[in-house]
Amino acid sequence: MNVKASEVISKLMKLGEMATINQAIDSDTAAILASEYNTEVGVVSLFDETVIKIEQEDRAEDAVSRPPVVTVMGHVDHGKTKLLDAIRSANVIDSEFGGITQHIGAYTVAVGDRSITFFDTPGHAAFTTMRARGASITDIVILVVAANDGVMPQTVEAISHAKAANVPIIVAINKMDLPEANSTKVKQELSNYGLMPEDWGGTTLFAEISAKQNSNIDQLLELVLIQAEMLELKANPKLLAKGTVIESRLDPGRGAVSTVLVQSGTLNLSDPFVVGVYSGRARAMFDDKRNSIETAGPSMPVEILGLSGVPAAGDPFEGVESDRMAKQISQKRLEYKRIESAKKVRKVTLESLNEMIKEGEVKDLNVIVKADVDGSSQALTEALEKLSNEEIRVRVIHSGAGGINDSDVMLASASNAIIIGYHVRPTGKVADLAEKEDVSIRFYNIIFEATDDIKAAMEGMLSPVLEEKTIGTGEIKQVFKVSKIGSIAGSICMSGKVIRKSKVRIIRDGVVVFDGPLASLKRYKDDVTTVEAGQEFGFSTENFNDIKEGDAFEAYEVIQTAKKL
Ligand code: GDP
Repeated sequence: MNVKASEVISKLMKLGEMATINQAIDSDTAAILASEYNTEVGVVSLFDETVIKIEQEDRAEDAVSRPPVVTVMGHVDHGKTKLLDAIRSANVIDSEFGGITQHIGAYTVAVGDRSITFFDTPGHAAFTTMRARGASITDIVILVVAANDGVMPQTVEAISHAKAANVPIIVAINKMDLPEANSTKVKQELSNYGLMPEDWGGTTLFAEISAKQNSNIDQLLELVLIQAEMLELKANPKLLAKGTVIESRLDPGRGAVSTVLVQSGTLNLSDPFVVGVYSGRARAMFDDKRNSIETAGPSMPVEILGLSGVPAAGDPFEGVESDRMAKQISQKRLEYKRIESAKKVRKVTLESLNEMIKEGEVKDLNVIVKADVDGSSQALTEALEKLSNEEIRVRVIHSGAGGINDSDVMLASASNAIIIGYHVRPTGKVADLAEKEDVSIRFYNIIFEATDDIKAAMEGMLSPVLEEKTIGTGEIKQVFKVSKIGSIAGSICMSGKVIRKSKVRIIRDGVVVFDGPLASLKRYKDDVTTVEAGQEFGFSTENFNDIKEGDAFEAYEVIQTAKKL
């Protein structure tokens, strides 16, 4: 801004901020400060700030088709791992020494004269964590559904996660060898989620397989290639390599080792590169079968040695022109990383919704709905989607019964969604994750309160909120029945505190079974006003006796906060 440091410091002082000459300030303060000098501040992410621009000739005719990158998803025990093993072992020559012991996070298989790359961590959790880090690398999802079990909760989660990422789904109905296998039933169930086979008038590709008996796997791979052809996946191998880190570790003998999926360009041995905040030079490269290789092209997973540090999964990988350039960019990124926490990406909340609509920052309000029972989640989903207007569409990207879990939070983070809990709460660990990911969770006990709130938020008329503050959490260790009083919950306070005036929520498997005021709070025989973390105590509630050993509870206070303008 062409202003002297002393001037900036005194300006900051006037704004109530004491800063020294070499101190970092957060982005909000920087924006206010800059506005004093009629300058605008643009907040960008760590990697945006050091975008690597290299003059290269990227001619359309150089683009060649590249193998599809596939993630296998589905409910636990439906055969994801078995399928990945079946695909992999069919492609490994028996004589290969030691067989297929070590995985590098992804592998490529040949199908005729073409190939397919698979991630060998199945499931939607890894997929969405990557997406939350800004990396979208899966082209196609194979959804495994066991023919004897049908659509289960994680099947539905997987569908939502793939749809939120706009990635096409191929269904593999597995365990067709079992006598009770019923593929028609599976197809019927899936059609409720918009996955319909072609002969029923839909567009989804289906294969009926047995991972255990290795049957019809070839057909499934053919379908993947058909889907890939429709997607027209292309990349230019003549450019410097670009890709994404799949996994990394520190190897005692070899230093930092990282598996990178090359997405465009070609990586050659001894090429300099930047990966996340680190730099390096490809000192050695290995393919998924541990062969030492010299080049890696688009859609190829490659293990690389020669990094200056251990990057995180999802970090971008970029080949550059020289070691010097690599080091310079790395240094700059390391510097920025130290102050990165000061500039978080803005996540949507009900309080900021109207402002974000006006500024054109959001066009869809993405919502995840979790309720205690299926009927409520469906009713709430319908009611919410009806609120859509010309300015903003309310889009429920996932809904289901059960407590709010890690997968919901990561999906919300990756899709910039808010989560609505209806009679359900997240566990402590999940609440921590939501806080870390900056995901907003709202709780309701009545449907119209939820719809009223969102409607008001869309119009920027959110009324003064009764904000809840959780003050303590704990667990019920033992239940005592006392005549006249009812059940006393012998408990331990694990964090924060519980006070006599607080309200409590009793939570069983993520579902709220009681919500209301305390009737008594005791330590041993005495009535007390406060119980601290680490202490054992007893409490009872008004009109609720169905307390069970192992229930979790949270104590909270209700505070009236002023309306946000
Ligand atoms: P994942 O949790 O989805 O990764 O499931 P796994 O691959 O670990 O498989 C769960 C169980 O189902 C294992 O005991 C497998 O042996 C079994 N299984 C997997 N595929 C098949 C199949 O095609 N037929 C039969 N009968 N069992 C299978």
